[in-house]
Amino acid sequence: MKKKRGIVPIEPESFLQFIDCHCHIPWNQNPARMDETYENQYDLFFKEGGKYIISSSVDWESLQFIRDFVESHEHMGFTSGWAPQTVTFTNKKKHDEDFSQWMDYIKNPHNYSNYLGIGEIGLDFHHAKKLDKRNHQIEIFKKIIQETKTLNKPYILHVRNPTQNDVDTDNPNHEFNDFDSVNKIILKILEEEEIEPSRVMWHCFSGPTKEWGNKIASQGFIISVISSAYGNKKMRNFSSEVPISNIVTETDAPYQHPYQYGVSNTPRNVKYAITALAFSHLMEQQEVAKIVFDNAKNFFKIMQG
Ligand SMILES: [Zn+2]
Repeated sequence: MKKKRGIVPIEPESFLQFIDCHCHIPWNQNPARMDETYENQYDLFFKEGGKYIISSSVDWESLQFIRDFVESHEHMGFTSGWAPQTVTFTNKKKHDEDFSQWMDYIKNPHNYSNYLGIGEIGLDFHHAKKLDKRNHQIEIFKKIIQETKTLNKPYILHVRNPTQNDVDTDNPNHEFNDFDSVNKIILKILEEEEIEPSRVMWHCFSGPTKEWGNKIASQGFIISVISSAYGNKKMRNFSSEVPISNIVTETDAPYQHPYQYGVSNTPRNVKYAITALAFSHLMEQQEVAKIVFDNAKNFFKIMQG
């Protein structure tokens, strides 16, 4: 492969141990060409040093099929999410019906020991550009936090701030258009609801600046660095000064391939996130791998004893 600018100049080492803290395996909508079946991806993950895969659902339907896959595969857990895209893109009737089923499911005790957390949930002001859509996402996010905070499960956040192309043209001066508006709203809600930061993981951390990385980490939040940080200098920069003690790693597979467009990502590529961190934090890959591995175990309370 020809090296492009922005790609880390070292390759992942063999014999790294890793956990993928956030992916969507299996997934019903393929964003790109997929060369391997999910069974192959699963087998190769463990063959190459993987120890545990955490797959996240985004709505009621994906919860069913991800949970079924996890139930029949060892060393996997799932999280139960209601993504902001689900809020914005599902028609109202279906959204409200599915949401109440989903809420009943996640609030009631049940027998799935590998139900590890709630997420992805959050706000996405790229996909919601209008005020009413943005307010709807906020309303649902708040409701999920309020109704689940006593469950003591970790939260996995999807946080996407608006860019200059995402301005609400009906309300161009509204504060929701600010480059870091989503971070601010999320922090405010979590503070009001008294959610302990160490219980919250910011999935696919994307700043929007490195100062935000520092601010969030210093409050005790967990930041998840994605495999595509390997091929994306800007993504690496956001977590470049975050202490490694606050970091876990993920792929978001099938999205976010480490260095290629138009190709599906796979959980074993989480090693590229480790390599990216070794580069940005000037550490040995083995050392990074060991620390982020322990962070993931502690955060999700997996592989204990
Ligand atoms: Zn995701």
